[in-house]
Amino acid sequence: MARILDGKWVRDEILKELKPRVADLTRRGRRPGLAVVLVGHDPASEIYVRNKEKASAEMGILSEKYTPAESVSTEELLVLIDSLNARDDVDGILVQTPLPRHVDSRRVLVAVKPDKDVDGFHPVNVGKLVANMPGPRACTPAGIIQLLKRYEIPITGQHAVVMGRSDIVGKPMALLLLHESATVTVCHSRTRDLPGECRRADILVCAIGRPAFVTRDFIKPGATVIDVGINRITDADQLKKIFGDTPSRSIIGDAHPVEAAEAAGAYTPVPGGVGPLTIAMLMSNTVQAAEDHLRCSA
Ligand code: NDP
Repeated sequence: MARILDGKWVRDEILKELKPRVADLTRRGRRPGLAVVLVGHDPASEIYVRNKEKASAEMGILSEKYTPAESVSTEELLVLIDSLNARDDVDGILVQTPLPRHVDSRRVLVAVKPDKDVDGFHPVNVGKLVANMPGPRACTPAGIIQLLKRYEIPITGQHAVVMGRSDIVGKPMALLLLHESATVTVCHSRTRDLPGECRRADILVCAIGRPAFVTRDFIKPGATVIDVGINRITDADQLKKIFGDTPSRSIIGDAHPVEAAEAAGAYTPVPGGVGPLTIAMLMSNTVQAAEDHLRCSA
């Protein structure tokens, strides 16, 4: 059976290390500030934002929430972002995605000043990632690197396969693993022989948004399987097919929870694996932004 990699433990370690940095900033009159923009009432986004607010409060980070109506225009959002860009007490700006379809998401995300882009999505910060220069990194992949390192799972020279090529997870994950000197393969919906590619992985990162898709057939025995997927299943029959007679939960990752736990050497469960890391790295990026701002204003 696979060793279970506990994302909550890693999150707590990261937050514990950030606390003295927040205290130091606060003592020097620069309490970190995070502004979150949440448009409309998407239930999943509301949960994510609530968790981000809770983590900020626990960390002593000032958090402000802006909740424009679903009907907000691109121009109105740009005005809001401009006002947050101009404020000295706001170190980080997070625009929760997805935005409504009528909004030009790209224009809104690019409007955030790169030094306040705590999600690491701005093209300037993506460029820094590609060039391996310091800068905010996308939170989920950065958290996964933290998890691998803190569990002392070797990355250098290992073959890492990343399933998914999104801007938020797959691409930054592949680059971060490459910078750690893994040999990286990126797979996507057009990949030929997906199970065969995945079976070559010492480290397999699943980020495709397909519940229980990655079965035993995809996993080299003993590999480390990092399951990023968050999929909610409400169909009782589908749950029964995955878990047998005793369905234990309705949030499922991209890896088959039973088969991955049997075949892998180490495995991040869903929930409780990758999810907690994302918020920890958001806090880390916000604290880093505040420290950079303090240094620049000195
Ligand atoms: P996207 O939908 O943006 O990207 C999915 C990627 O998976 C695409 O590159 C797509 O390929 C690929 N893909 C889809 N189906 C298949 C398939 N059958 N075979 C091979 N590749 C496939 O998703 P995200 O990257 O944003 O998220 C992925 C998952 O991770 C989701 O479940 C999401 O909820 C979760 N997530 C979890 C986070 C956390 O904190 N734990 C944070 C962010 C995301 P193509 O490009 O060819 O279409």
